[in-house]
Amino acid sequence: MKIIDLLNSDSLSLSFEVFPPKTETAFESVKEATEEIAKLKPAFMSVTYGAGGGTSKYTLDIAKNIKELYGVPTLAHLTCVSSTKETVREKIEQIKAARITNVMALRGDIPAELIDADRSVWDYKYAVDLIHELKSVNADFCIGGACYPEIHPESATQKDDIKRLKEKVEAGCDFLTTQMFFDNNLLYNFLYKIREAGITVPVIPGIMPITNANQVERAIKLSGSFMPQRFKSLVDKFGSDPAAMKQAGIAYATDQIIDLYANNITNVHVYSMNKPDIAAKIQSNLSDILGK
Ligand code: FAD
Repeated sequence: MKIIDLLNSDSLSLSFEVFPPKTETAFESVKEATEEIAKLKPAFMSVTYGAGGGTSKYTLDIAKNIKELYGVPTLAHLTCVSSTKETVREKIEQIKAARITNVMALRGDIPAELIDADRSVWDYKYAVDLIHELKSVNADFCIGGACYPEIHPESATQKDDIKRLKEKVEAGCDFLTTQMFFDNNLLYNFLYKIREAGITVPVIPGIMPITNANQVERAIKLSGSFMPQRFKSLVDKFGSDPAAMKQAGIAYATDQIIDLYANNITNVHVYSMNKPDIAAKIQSNLSDILGK
């Protein structure tokens, strides 16, 4: 099932993101966690891919398992930065062989040791290069791309970032998923600007439930996201009480989703990662709205 065909409903639907194990030993526990999430019957599940080969080995195994055992459509992430054409083509062949039709085409973060490298010799410099490659192998892939309501950290201006985003969409992105954000107004503003720039594909907002205080610093470092005062107060109040922080973080993410839906955004991607309890709680908080 192509993800693009799931995005035209008037009712709210959720998708969940998971990550593959880093080691063979962790495989079974990750498989179990992802299966628990699949049992919630989300619209789809996406499986991340480690840049530089870190956790890339098991992405397809996890994606294939969820799809085959639970019939949940899967989106396999793939990055291309500093990879050779040979490696990327081999991965694409494996995706085809696994009968996965949805691919999240990403550049990936530039590994620290390559920041100053001569990029002119790389086979893939940007996600757009990977999109061209995917399309040339199989025009029927349903392709997702990443977008950044608060601007990608390497872009000088939002105008530049949106110009590049448009090129990515024109190369063949069927839909876009956003980086996490904690203030919905940032998304509404971004949507206005990209629509004005002529980007018309569906945009799936990504919501990250922050359920422990340590995550806050990591999330800001990773995404550069703006933390509204309302969110900071919540961390100040509950950060030292793990159970209360978890409940408050889930409530905050639920509230963001309700506001998005109230503003006619019907597909929301939840970065609940490999935490079935968090995915389930968000879903149960929204049970009447979701009708399940
Ligand atoms: P690009 O679209 O290539 O953009 C990167 C930067 O280059 C931007 O500043 C853009 O404006 C600029 N740019 C683009 N094209 C050009 C051009 N032709 N000339 C000049 N500048 C250009 N990382 C992982 O390693 N694994 C994952 O599974 C993963 N999943 C993600 C899922 C989502 C929804 C998001 C939002 C991010 C994800 N990431 C993942 C992180 C992502 O790899 C990084 O944010 C990375 O730095 C950029 O990837 P991209 O595909 O957005 O790059």
